[in-house]
Amino acid sequence: MSSTANAQPAAILHEVFGYEHFRGPQAAIVDHVIAGGDALVLMPTGGGKSLCYQIPAIARQRAGRGVTIVVSPLIALMHDQVGALHEAGVDAAFLNSTLSMEEASNVEKRMLRGEVTLVYAAPERVTTPRFLSQLQAMHEKGRLALFAIDEAHCVSQWGHDFRPEYRALTVLHERYPDVPRMALTATADDITRADIVERLQLGQARQFISSFDRPNIRYTIVEKKEATAQLLRFIEREHEGDAGIVYCQTRKRVEEIAATLSEQGIRALPYHAGLDPEVRQANQDRFLREEGIVMSATIAFGMGIDKPDVRFVAHLDMPKNIEGYYQETGRGGRDGLPADAWMAYGLQDVVNQRRMIDESPAGEEFKQVMRGKLDALLALAEATDCRRVRLLGYFGEASTPCGNCDNCIAPPAVWDGTDAARKLLSTIYRVQQQSGISFGAGHIMDILRGKATEKVKQFGHESLSTFGIGAEFSEVQLRGVLRQLIATGSLSVDSEAFNTLRLTEGSRAVLKGEMAVRLRESVSQPSESRRRRTTEKARAPVAAAGLTVDGANRFAALKSWRAEIAREHNLPAYVIFHDATLAAIAAMSPQSLGDLQGISGIGATKLEKYGQHVLRVVAQVG
Ligand code: ADP
Ligand code: ZN
Repeated sequence: MSSTANAQPAAILHEVFGYEHFRGPQAAIVDHVIAGGDALVLMPTGGGKSLCYQIPAIARQRAGRGVTIVVSPLIALMHDQVGALHEAGVDAAFLNSTLSMEEASNVEKRMLRGEVTLVYAAPERVTTPRFLSQLQAMHEKGRLALFAIDEAHCVSQWGHDFRPEYRALTVLHERYPDVPRMALTATADDITRADIVERLQLGQARQFISSFDRPNIRYTIVEKKEATAQLLRFIEREHEGDAGIVYCQTRKRVEEIAATLSEQGIRALPYHAGLDPEVRQANQDRFLREEGIVMSATIAFGMGIDKPDVRFVAHLDMPKNIEGYYQETGRGGRDGLPADAWMAYGLQDVVNQRRMIDESPAGEEFKQVMRGKLDALLALAEATDCRRVRLLGYFGEASTPCGNCDNCIAPPAVWDGTDAARKLLSTIYRVQQQSGISFGAGHIMDILRGKATEKVKQFGHESLSTFGIGAEFSEVQLRGVLRQLIATGSLSVDSEAFNTLRLTEGSRAVLKGEMAVRLRESVSQPSESRRRRTTEKARAPVAAAGLTVDGANRFAALKSWRAEIAREHNLPAYVIFHDATLAAIAAMSPQSLGDLQGISGIGATKLEKYGQHVLRVVAQVG
């Protein structure tokens, strides 16, 4: 602790992290905690939660109050977080099984003396008798500054990553009621929030709930045709060379997509729970450390992935609910630069998700909740108005059309499918009445469009009054109508009986014309040939957009310099400097350390450590 160091939050933000302003509620949170208050912090992914406890930790350490204990669920990422703090000149350490006995005991000694600023540990360790007795010793000497409980939703079984070990953390409050505590999470849902408060005894804590909007993420949901080809087109057109995540439902699909992308020259790796743990870890490390890797993954991939420059998150299969979707897409664009959330969605997704709920062993009540959540996501997928308004609305936040989603950017042509829907449902009704059995979508559409196929003749369905009454509709249109009817529950698919179509309670309203069916005009995508990499100039990375030719050269040189340093330090490149920081340096072409000083992301330690190198790299390019 240096006696001259400033303990003011704004000064720490500037000096240590090199940032000019606090974002959103950060300043209020930091002030509240430094003053000794408890806090529950809900902020979307990428909102900047880490600074909310790191700055109080530094301030309290500088004021002679000792050590902050950070409870963190993932050993794998403690290393990078502590590494990032070291880069910024903050004395931090972790305690986990990757340390030797000697290393661990060194950290413990420094912790007991109150020297280190932050100590990261998993909940299992924090609640051991040994660790608790160390906390006790620190507490008695006034060396216990703060408890920060990260990923606090893990305490709740309603959250998506329940970790029973989190429950034992109540001991912290019971034993040290006077030490301030903060719980941080990106999970919004009301039940989970109430559960966190109760479980962690944060009834007295002030709650800081940020807007869940992520304005730099552009949401796009396309109709699924040939999903793999669509994905390839999307990546090649908009994200060549970018880091991204592609979520798939099954392990098999994950492997296939990784292989297909690789064949097409995209650096892609698979990640799913069935992989050998070492391979899985190695793939995750490469994704975090190397640039421009696409991870093809199941939802097993994600928690704690705080790589800031993920430029797109694609869903090839629809997730279960909006919470999951929002959490997953939220992993894009943490650095605040433009990112894409892209999903391909089709009839099969609706059928699969409904079936998974129907066939799950859960009780009826639970299934009802799950169905409600699925319906909300389906409504989002079918929406022809602003996606963001709907997403935020789901989390209880009112907003106006965003201008940065597919529907806002190119309002879809909409056609009225009400008539087609009624004709479809009445055909299903007549067929059922006449034959006493149900049929699948293909057969129903054949009848409606007046196609006298073998099967139609075999069952005498060309004599039905509805035969041919939908001749004016294309098959694509009718499939759209079907999908929406199933999505809204106005029609069901019996997966145990060859995916045959059944009328439901909800069919009645459509048949009576009480429910309008509005559909997006299905634009047939021209099957444009693949862009030829060799003839086209590589697109500039998003951070470098707007740089001159010289600036882009400097940016490229700075990136390769950064890659070297990152390798030397065994840390991801973004921990050294963010792309945005390198781009700002490249744009200004600094001549002196003074020039570098004001650039966002360059704090005092980094300036001292890397300033001269950076100036040299810039000078070499000219
Ligand atoms: P979260 O944990 O909420 O997902 P992080 O703490 O990882 O988010 O922060 C996301 C990114 O935003 C990080 O790269 C961080 O350095 C940056 N950041 C946070 N606060 C600020 C700020 N006040 N000014 C500039 N950048 C910030
Ligand atoms: Zn919008």
